[in-house]
Amino acid sequence: LKPSKPAQTGPERIPGVEHIIAIASGKGGVGKSTVSANIACALAQQGKRVGLLDADVYGPSQPRMMGVSGRPASPDGKTILPLRNHGVTLMSIGLMTNEDQAVVWRGPMLMGALQQMMMQVQWGALDVLIVDLPPGTGDVQMTLSQKAVVDGAVIVSTPQDVALLDARKGIDMFKQLKVPILGMVENMSTHICSECGHEEHVFGHGGVAKEASALGVPLLAEVPLDLQIRLASDGGAPIVVTQPDSAQAQAFHAVAKAL
Ligand code: ADP
Repeated sequence: LKPSKPAQTGPERIPGVEHIIAIASGKGGVGKSTVSANIACALAQQGKRVGLLDADVYGPSQPRMMGVSGRPASPDGKTILPLRNHGVTLMSIGLMTNEDQAVVWRGPMLMGALQQMMMQVQWGALDVLIVDLPPGTGDVQMTLSQKAVVDGAVIVSTPQDVALLDARKGIDMFKQLKVPILGMVENMSTHICSECGHEEHVFGHGGVAKEASALGVPLLAEVPLDLQIRLASDGGAPIVVTQPDSAQAQAFHAVAKAL
């Protein structure tokens, strides 16, 4: 982790939080939440004090992926106590609603909830807060970077052209918001059949590396499309927790080390 930027007027630092790193994608379903959860757990295993803010307000998946449930308490009625698992302090709008309940709120209400999750949660002393953003270039991204000093963003994409096209828009948005791009992660990079070992590039290959090099940002990792990654997340413990020595876990550790 690089030294913190000095606080500016406008965006604030969250008290006690040294760095904020956003994990973003242009499209949904490319594995942004999976990458966020694994990076957060990898950072915790590397001895960092880590928080994970699930800002994917319309599709919060961190409670499930991080194996956390139950309503966070608010003993003083003003601040919220986050939950904790796998060494990571977690807050998600999914913890404030039932899992099968849709969040049917208009923009201002959502932005209020986001601001509350940033500023009214007792995060404690953190080296880094990982923010799992919703896909795209909307209100949440803008609110986050207007209200809080975001030290950098990691862009997750599959190598598929349609995903890359949207990733490019995301990168352009962060440039406009003056948030540095720390690098890109190619997810679902290749698939290796667990039966026969045959390798197939389901979504193409090398697209993210090419894009990263064209944009002059590092390619932080290529993560395979892998059944174990999916099973681990669905079971409530990311693969860096369930299989810390696997090549997949090492790929996430490499990303965490590069931040
Ligand atoms: P996003 O946050 O971009 O919408 P998710 O992280 O929720 O994407 O991933 C979408 C689905 O794909 C989830 O079911 C997740 O378990 C699965 N998934 C994500 N990355 C991988 C991977 N590398 N290998 C296998 N399954 C994956």
